[in-house]
Amino acid sequence: MDQKSKNGQEKRPDNDRLVLEMADIISILGDDYRNIYCVDRETYNIEIYRYENDTVGVREVLKENRPYNRAIQMYIEENVFKDDKEKMKVAMDLDNVCSRLQQVPHFSVHYRVKRNSEILFYRMKCARIRSADSLQKIIFAFACEDADVRWNRLGTELQSGALSRKRKILIAEDNALNLEMLCALLKDEYEIITANNGKIALEVLEDHYKDLSLILLDIQMPVLDGFEVLKKVREDAMLSSVPIIVLTTSDGIHTELASLDLGAADFIAKPYNADLIRRRIRNIIGLKESSLTLAALEHDALTGFYTEQAFFHYAKQLMAGRPDKKMHLLVAKIKDFKLINSIYGAKRADELLLYLTAIYSERLKNGLIARTGNSSFAFLFYDGNELDYRTVTDTIHYVIENTPIPGIKVKYGIYEDIDKHFSISTICDYALMAAETVMDNYDCDLAYYTKEIAQKQIYNQMIENSFEDALHNEEFIVYYQPKVDIITEKVLGADALVRWKKRDGSVISPGDFIPVYEKDGLIEKLDEYVFEQVCRLQKSKKDIGKALLPISVNLSRSSILQEGVAERYIEIAKKNEVPFSCVPLELTESVAVYSDKISKTIDQLIKAGFKLQVDDFGSGYSSLAILNQLPFSTLKIDKSLINHVCEEKGRTLVEQVILLSKVLKMQVVAEGVETKEQLEELRNLQCDEIQGFYFARPMPEKEFIEYIESLGT
Ligand code: C2E
Ligand code: MG
Repeated sequence: MDQKSKNGQEKRPDNDRLVLEMADIISILGDDYRNIYCVDRETYNIEIYRYENDTVGVREVLKENRPYNRAIQMYIEENVFKDDKEKMKVAMDLDNVCSRLQQVPHFSVHYRVKRNSEILFYRMKCARIRSADSLQKIIFAFACEDADVRWNRLGTELQSGALSRKRKILIAEDNALNLEMLCALLKDEYEIITANNGKIALEVLEDHYKDLSLILLDIQMPVLDGFEVLKKVREDAMLSSVPIIVLTTSDGIHTELASLDLGAADFIAKPYNADLIRRRIRNIIGLKESSLTLAALEHDALTGFYTEQAFFHYAKQLMAGRPDKKMHLLVAKIKDFKLINSIYGAKRADELLLYLTAIYSERLKNGLIARTGNSSFAFLFYDGNELDYRTVTDTIHYVIENTPIPGIKVKYGIYEDIDKHFSISTICDYALMAAETVMDNYDCDLAYYTKEIAQKQIYNQMIENSFEDALHNEEFIVYYQPKVDIITEKVLGADALVRWKKRDGSVISPGDFIPVYEKDGLIEKLDEYVFEQVCRLQKSKKDIGKALLPISVNLSRSSILQEGVAERYIEIAKKNEVPFSCVPLELTESVAVYSDKISKTIDQLIKAGFKLQVDDFGSGYSSLAILNQLPFSTLKIDKSLINHVCEEKGRTLVEQVILLSKVLKMQVVAEGVETKEQLEELRNLQCDEIQGFYFARPMPEKEFIEYIESLGT
């Protein structure tokens, strides 16, 4: 990730400090707190350290950039249950909080939130960072009391989904009067189908067993009596999934016992008691549904492994029950599963999952196994032994050697000897993070979780969580780096490069945040924002009659894949009356991977008049094919090649790239030129343009305009 932060000269943010603080905070708070904020005691500024769910609601009141005291007051007013408002007010007075934190490192307040007529239990924790005498920053963390939020939420969702529709029941009764009475009694609550003999009842059941919630079955009926129906139903697994309540005459226990023996769920004796009937029906349906819900929650339908929720549930119990036993967590993630799905189709993708299921259940059976997402599995080895490294690596090799789809990659992350203070979902996240570090690695499929990985992740999380606020607060600043003609040394254009200037003045380089935003899809917004800023600058120059120099803008792969991107960029340029040729777009080579989808967008952009540049050529998976497939007008040679242009081999390589570009009639720009020697060499090789510190560093807008004007360009 870091290789892209090519410019080491700018003021670096105090990353280490942030990471350290966060690690400190988690070690104080434990990992239950999904929403963590840090408040500066003097400025009342709030920094979001972690924001993982919106159930708390604090973040929502921070939207308007309010200072802490105002935000917390609104939070309390709008969310906290009236009886608990008073005790939450402690949080409003920072001096008060600080004096308490001088005595103790942290304290909690338990409170309730009323949401949609439901009372939810929450906990707020205030904590100090480091020692009692440095209370410059205070932590406010919020957690929902139930650590198993996901488990519970899913269960409730399923159940409430089921409860919201009117259930269908079948009443099989030949006595018209009884039938009428039962219908009248139940029609408000249920959708009713009737049958006046056992044969019809069976036929209805055959057709509707999937959506029937219950059958009321009279025992004495013509054609086929209730016992016969029960017998037939019992023989069929599908039909017997519908619970049956038998309607008996009160002639003693015999009929009732016989019915129960034949699989009836319950019985109701005549004459009917309305309340009893309603309650029995409700109970039986409820019982049936909760067991179905649980089963659906427990096992993944395709692999039969535990679902993530069940895995978390049982893992948590195991961890609590065996605190002294060593446990290890392994995750497996299929790389590019979405791509596999779209190339080979869902059926082959399912086959791949089943292939993995078979191997894992055979070879890694002494652990708790789950399918934890579309394309990942988790294994908790809880027997107290050391990690069986041999078995794990053998399994990994076996999977690859026998794969039904050639070339697939499964990446693994291990958290060895897990720290049971963390929640199981955090432990899984950590193992997954380890796997992510080898996701693009060709010769390594397995990585171990380390503290550094966690710290990096925490830092990335902060970057991700702060995006919307940073955008809103205009913390993303566009810098401009001139591109210079190699012969005349005149400025021919510039490259727009974004930086993140935080409110505390520190600057984060794109090498740190672009990869994070590329992963979570936020880059699309940022790219568009940068493009708008560049168009705005061009328009302001045009408005005062200045000639426009092309300023190129970077477009990430996910931005170009986005629906409607061409239309939007065309519209932005038009709105600012900027000629398309003055805002060329830089794409990296990797865009070629999805060339089909991209080519339509590219066509639109080219037709409109945009110029495309291939960026970082020679940096990664260089593909000559892309030069042929996509109509680039300029090729930028990556700094990693330019670094060696003064050496024999490096020189030859750059020479060949330049020759190739000339053949394909593309302009060539050398990126990252730092020395006079490199410049001379590139001049000899007839490179066209130079971008690099030798001439100029990226600079903010104002400085860039002054620079251009000072050169009389
Ligand atoms: P940088 O400004 O640190 O940007 C690094 C990379 O982040 C860019 O590489 C680009 O891929 C990405 N990036 C920056 N802004 C945006 C954006 O708005 N959207 C997207 N999607 N990506 C963005 P790129 O394009 O190859 O830019 C050239 C990099 O090389 C810049 O780094 C620049 O500061 C640096 N550089 C230029 N000349 C020199 C030099 O002589 N020496 C060194 N060490 N670095 C140089
Ligand atoms: Mg670029």
